[in-house]
This record gives sequence, structure tokens and C-alpha cells, in this order.
Amino acid sequence: MTTRSVTATSFSPRRLGGWGFEGRNFPPSPGLLTWLEKRLGETQPFPVFDPTELAVPKGRSLPDLPLETSAAPLDRLAHSRGQGLTDLLRLRSGTVPAIPDGVARPSDSQEVVAILEGCAAAGVRVIPWGGGTSVTGGVNVIPGNQTVITLDLERLSGLEGLDPKSGLATFGAGTSGPALEEALGPHGLTLGHFPQSWELSTLGGWIATRASGQESLGYGGIDDLVAGLDLVAPAGRLELPPLPASAAGPDLRQLVLGSEGRLGVVTSATVRVRPQPERLEVEAVILPSWEVGIEAARRLTQERVPLSLLRLSDETETEVAMTVGLAGHPWMASLVRRWLELRGVKGGGCLMLLGSAGSAGRVRTTFSRGRALLRTLGAVSLGSRPGRQWLADRFRHPYLRDGLLDRGIATDTLETAAPWTALPAVYRATRRALESALAGYDESTAVLCHLSHPYQDGASLYFTVFFRCPADVDLAIERWASLKRTATSAIVAAGATLSHHHGVGSWHAPWLADEIGSDGVRLLESVTDAFDPQGVLNPTVLVDPKDRLET
Ligand SMILES: Cc1cc2nc3c(=O)[nH]c(=O)nc-3n(C[C@H](O)[C@H](O)[C@H](O)COP(=O)(O)OP(=O)(O)OC[C@H]3O[C@@H](n4cnc5c(N)ncnc54)[C@H](O)[C@@H]3O)c2cc1C
Repeated sequence: MTTRSVTATSFSPRRLGGWGFEGRNFPPSPGLLTWLEKRLGETQPFPVFDPTELAVPKGRSLPDLPLETSAAPLDRLAHSRGQGLTDLLRLRSGTVPAIPDGVARPSDSQEVVAILEGCAAAGVRVIPWGGGTSVTGGVNVIPGNQTVITLDLERLSGLEGLDPKSGLATFGAGTSGPALEEALGPHGLTLGHFPQSWELSTLGGWIATRASGQESLGYGGIDDLVAGLDLVAPAGRLELPPLPASAAGPDLRQLVLGSEGRLGVVTSATVRVRPQPERLEVEAVILPSWEVGIEAARRLTQERVPLSLLRLSDETETEVAMTVGLAGHPWMASLVRRWLELRGVKGGGCLMLLGSAGSAGRVRTTFSRGRALLRTLGAVSLGSRPGRQWLADRFRHPYLRDGLLDRGIATDTLETAAPWTALPAVYRATRRALESALAGYDESTAVLCHLSHPYQDGASLYFTVFFRCPADVDLAIERWASLKRTATSAIVAAGATLSHHHGVGSWHAPWLADEIGSDGVRLLESVTDAFDPQGVLNPTVLVDPKDRLET
């Protein structure tokens, strides 16, 4: 192994109560605002509170720890919530119900051991924090009497070892997406894991939530990419070496993947890396309908066309993408629509993005196989312009949420996965639930969906929902909670998974038994009890039946 250390890229300060970094924005286009107002009605701006004016309560006294723990009010506030919609609403309105009493930043695994020992002895709760991009309440401080420390892992960052011949790289768990790719770049390597939250999320967070990147079709999800890892817990330690495969009992790596900090703190991991592709290209086609699009996605995947990315938008998401985003100006969109009508596509059709990574030759042959298959299903090619635009904007999209909230439009996303045969019914049930969830408040929603992360046996569905955000934060959260309960119940009742890649956190935890059974939950509890008998680590996530949606 050659060893090289890398420091994290320095950025402008992170935005509090919003996505990303100060000074970076992606405002909604006038076309999108008009489209949304037509469906939701007129909106009122959601007020923004200046966090520096908040009188942050003094933290409770902290145990003696082997490193300095930050008690700075703004630092603690910035570590109080993740990036779910209610997190943003609470932070923006200055109504966060609880914040950590301190923020600890260990710089090696020995310090993590010592912190956990100190906290277990003093009865202090510890919340591991990677990039804080959880959308399931995973890093949120729950009000209570116990002292809480957030364990920010940003100092456990950088490349610790590289074995290029085996395609293995070891990183500190706090390494962010950009820092990880920056460290691999000079070696001509990539991990190929690009979640939309890539700019901020970390390797440890991806492992803890069982994350999936946009190019998972080509590279696999994080569960495919992790070869080995180190985990530190109050009553145990795992040092699982990188191995290509093993029949030495159940795979404990897979037990850590998705454990959300309950089982221990991942301090480092060895991941499978590959040569950087010479090029990544994305082509766009329109399929005549959603049903035909699903069939096309299934066949492309099962016939093993070697794509790295596949994403199929439903009719509504296609309308939005074509009108306001990917096609460029509105006149361009109507030109595209007229052209599609001439080619026999009625009602706008469904946009599919197909990505291919590799040498120029591989990209060419992949697309030509894909095109041949899609032509038999009536697809019309839009060429590479929409794909180039999507690639250029893909990590800017999260900034859009803040611009919409400024105008009083709330956005949230839900995701699931199901076998190919079940997908149409899961889609209909979830869409119906999201569309009607706010009828009791006499409010409408606008719902978009796309299919992505396809597998041999099924795929993920990703829903985006918009609704008018009342200026009263408690009312806004009540509406969101009602919407989330209705849609999550519909997903589970349709037999689909509670989450394909966002994880369980505290917001999905009450439904976990619906998927894995009460004995499955009991088994998980006994595993977490073995490593953390006092419930020091993040006890309100994963296995916690309490409904905390309105916290
Ligand atoms: C705009 C946006 C887009 C997103 N897009 C995607 C996407 O495309 N794909 C996807 O999979 N997810 C996505 N997410 C969800 C989120 O980014 C992922 O869950 C991500 O994996 C979290 O990583 P993080 O480093 O921010 O972890 P955090 O949010 O800090 O933590 C998440 C959970 O993991 C625990 N944890 C964190 N680090 C460790 C560690 N080292 N050891 C033990 N436990 C730990 C925390 O306690 C918490 O329970 C998105 C979120 C947002 C806001």
C-alpha cells in the first residue's frame, strides 16, 4: 500500500438552515414558479430568522474528555439538525427545540474510544455526525434531560492507504465526497459514488445510512463499494479487513451498513475504487408513456446494457423538466413538444436519461445498444444537450429548495424500491397518497416522480412533493407530518421498502417492524445492546417506535 494524506478542501462557510455554502445559490426559474403557483395557489414568503440573534441556552456541563469540546452557541446550533424539510423550517424560524450541549471533533480512533468511554461513564448521549445531511432526523437532538454531545467526524478525513493493484483505498470516515474524489484523482481513480448530497455528505455517513449514488447502476451502492471497515463502540470494536468475499459467517460489514450510528462509530473504511472513466456522457430520450418507460428501464437493465446511470421521469416531472429546466427556454420546450408530436408522442411522454462511462468506444457501443432497444419501444432521441445540462446542475439542485422556501413553497422527497411487477401499483398508491394528503387542510400538492437505481429485479421510485408553506412554523410542520405519515403508510402497505437509500433515522423508525417484523427489530435491538448496552449512541434512530415527526 502507498500512503498519502490529504486535507479536506476548504470552502466558504456552510449555510445554517439551508443547503451548502454561503454565496452559492440555484434560484428557481420564473417558469417553475409559475408552474407551481398554478397548482398550489398564491404563496407568501416563509420568514427567515437571523440565527445570530437567537439566545441559545447555555449547555449542560460536560464530562471530562480527552479533547476540547466546543460549547460555542452557533457551533452547537449548526449541529442540532440535519437537512430534512422540518430541520430547515426549525432552523430558519429559530424554533429548534433542543441543541447539543457540546460538539467534539476527535482526530483519531483512540480519541473516539476515549470519548465514548467518558460519555458512557457520565451517562451522556453521543450523536455521530458526518456531513449532517440526514433527511430522516438521523442527527437531530431530541429534547430531554440528558446531556448530548455531537461527535463531528470532520477531522477523521483523508486518504489513509491505497492499493491500486487491488483497487482498494482506505479513508477516514469523515472524508466528504469532494475530498475523497480529490484524493483519488491524481491516481487516476474514482469511487463512483455520487449521491445528490455529495458536496457535503461523508463516507461514514454513506455507510451508516446505506446510501446510493446517482451512478449506482454502473458502480453499485455503498453496500457494494465497502470492502472493510473499523468501528468503535462503547462496549466493542470491529476491525473488518478488506476482503473480496468471505464465507466466514454472516457478513458483519453488511450489519454495519445501515446501522445509523446505533452500533458504533465508523472511524475508517476501505472502499473499492476503479479507474476514472475517460468520459461520462448522458443522452436523453422521450418514451411514449410511464408504463412503456418502466418496461424500457427493465429491459435495458435485465439485458445488461452497460449503462452507469438510468433515470426515468414520469409525465409530470417530464413536463417540469422540459418546460423549465432541461430544454432551456420555454420557446425551446414548445419546439421540442411540437417535434415530439410530429414523431407520434402524445401528451409530452416521459423523459429518460441514460448515462454511460468509460472509453469513447465503450460509450459509443453502449448508447448504440441502448438506442436500438429503445427504438423498438417508440423512443424519440433528444440527443445530449439535456444530459449535459443535468450533469452541470446535478449538485446544484439541492440549493433550489431554499429559493423555493424563501417564496413559501415547501419541498420534500420520499423514496422507495420494489420489484418490477409491483412498481406501477406502488407508484399509483404513493402518488395518490401524496396528492390527497393535505385535502383536510384544503390545500393542494404538486407531485413529481422518477424511477432510478434499477436492478435485475426492480428499481427505486423517488417522489418530490411541493406544498404551500404556512408562515406559522408549527402549522407547516403539522402539514408535513401529515403528508409524510400518509405517504409512508401507503408505501409500506403497497409492499415496497420503507427506504431505498435515505435510511430509517427517527422519522421512519415507527414503520420498521412493518418491513422486517417485530422479531427482526428485536434482533437488531439485541445487536445494538451488545455493543452499546447503555444506549449512549443515537438511541432515537433506527429502532425506536416513537413517532417523532413533529419534533
Ligand atoms: C439534498 C439532499 C440530497 C440527498 N441525496 C441523496 C442521494 O442521492 N443518495 C443517498 O443515499 N442519500 C441522499 N441524501 C441523504 C443523505 O445525504 C445521506 O443519508 C448521506 O449518506 C448522509 O451522509 P452524512 O455524512 O451527511 O451523514 P449524517 O447526516 O451526518 O448522518 C447520517 C446518520 O449516520 C450516522 N453517522 C454519520 N457518520 C457516522 C459514522 N462515521 N459512524 C457511525 N454513524 C455515523 C449519524 O449519526 C446519522 O444517524 C440526500 C440528502 C439531501 C439533503
